[in-house]
Parts: sequence; C-alpha cells; structure tokens
Amino acid sequence: MARKIAAGNWKMNGTRAALAEVEALVNAHPAPRVGVILCPPATLICAMKAIAGPIAVGGQDCHAEPSGAHTGDISAQQLCDAGASYVILGHSERRADHAETDPQVEAKAQAAWAAGLQAVICIGETETERDAGTTLAVIGEQLSASVPEGATGANTIIAYEPVWAIGTGRTPTLAQIAEVHDFLRAELAERFGADQATEFSLLYGGSVKPSNAAEIFQVANVDGALVGGASLKAADFGPIIAALESI
Ligand code: PEP
Repeated sequence: MARKIAAGNWKMNGTRAALAEVEALVNAHPAPRVGVILCPPATLICAMKAIAGPIAVGGQDCHAEPSGAHTGDISAQQLCDAGASYVILGHSERRADHAETDPQVEAKAQAAWAAGLQAVICIGETETERDAGTTLAVIGEQLSASVPEGATGANTIIAYEPVWAIGTGRTPTLAQIAEVHDFLRAELAERFGADQATEFSLLYGGSVKPSNAAEIFQVANVDGALVGGASLKAADFGPIIAALESI
C-alpha cells in the first residue's frame, strides 16, 4: 500500500521567522497519521529539522554529483547532513528556470538515493500540451525518462503537477486528475510490476488548498498532495493534513 503523504514546497519563501509556522503545525498535529514533509529553502533545513518533530524535512533540488566545483549548488549528501530525508526533483519551476531535462532529473534521483534521500520526482504537462491533447504522452515520457531503474515505493514518490495549475488557483477536474493518476499507476505497473506499482505514493500538486483537498484526496490513486502556497501557513497546511488523515 502506498503511504499517504502531505508534502509542502516552500519554494524561495521563508526566513527563520517562518519557523514559527512549523512550531504551530507541530503543536496542532503532534502525531499525524499520514506522512508529512516540509521542503523549505536550503538555508532553513537544519533549523527546521531541529523543531519539526514528526514532520520530515526535504530539499527542493540537489546536484547529481556528490561534491565539487559547482558554485551555488547543493549535493544530496549535504541535504542529508543538514537533516533532510527527502528531495524534490524536476519541479516544473526548475525545469523552466534552469532548463532541467529528464536525464538530469534521473541522475539527481540516483544521487539522492545514494545519499539516503527519498526522491520526490515531479512531472506535469503545460497548458499548451493539455490543449493539444498530449497530456498522457508528455507525462508518460517524463515518467519513463526521469524515474531511474531501481525506483521503488520506498525510495521514490511521484508528484503529478500540471504546470498550468501551479500557483494559479486553477485545478484540473477530478476526472482529469483521475485519468492521469490511473495512467501513472498503470505505467508503473508495466515497468516495475503490479505489486511494486501499488507501493509508490502518487501525489497531486497544483493549487491544493483547504477548500479542495478533501475532494482531491477522494480520487482513486491519489495518495496525497504536493502543496506550494498553502504549505506556508500552519492554518492552511494543517487542514490539508487533516483532510488526508480522514481518507
Ligand atoms: C508547487 O509548487 O509544487 C505547487 C503545487 O504550488 P501551489 O500549491 O502553490 O500551486
């Protein structure tokens, strides 16, 4: 059975003052019945880990190499050393801002595993691709090229994030989410076997908020969410965690 997971992506938001939100979240959810992960900017990983209690901490990207002359980059080992146990990889903002490719994401995932991190690999179509009717072809290609051989439900989480739904307040219909998540499960079954496929947590991401989380979590093959804006405040992220707990 796939783990239920509520993951938060703080993106380039937050200074130490924002850790008060983590304290509030831990106070409100001292023993969550689902996996909860927060991925702050790298500058906050260490301090967040110290106060996060049952909440796991993750990075937002890592370099594929363990060390070296890569100014401004962070290795998976360094994330791990700072207290991370997860890393988001291939987020559409990285793919757009830094021209990250599927093979690069694949290499980063292997580096993450080697360091002992679980990879949260993001895939998703643009609005143009959806309008052109190529959503499943795009997702299928990203899945096959970004997720390395050796992926299991224990070392990899897949996040389906339609690019046009991120930070826009727009979400796909529940039927559209179901179509993609069913497709992902079937693709994983074909590649890794039916038993292993059921172990992968498939997260939906894109404008998840307290008001729509419960209905999204009812969709078959949705095992949780990757949440951006609504993960910044305990008052927003807490109800999303509670909605997932009640499924
Ligand atoms: C994200 O950045 O992964 C995301 C889903 O953002 P938001 O929830 O703000 O749409």
